[in-house]
Amino acid sequence: MAGHVHSLLKANEIDCHLRNMNLSGGIGELPINECWPEVWVNDESDYAFAKRLIDNVLADAENQGDWQCQCGELIEGQFDVCWSCATERSN
Ligand SMILES: [Zn+2]
Repeated sequence: MAGHVHSLLKANEIDCHLRNMNLSGGIGELPINECWPEVWVNDESDYAFAKRLIDNVLADAENQGDWQCQCGELIEGQFDVCWSCATERSN
């Protein structure tokens, strides 16, 4: 997820960098919220724009509605392939 957000911001020419990408091995020994990957915007003036981009992407992901496969299964919107018969979403 952090990598995805990082790519999104880079694609919009926002100067940013990833932190904590290699710390997940420390989970269990370090407080967990200090181990999550983080995306840092280098220029504070980009923050509002970056936040809006990310919010839009997250909202789009949530708004992908459930879909019904030809086999009759109702599939949650975040999946593009039917878990039952492996047919891809057609629309
Ligand atoms: Zn199916």
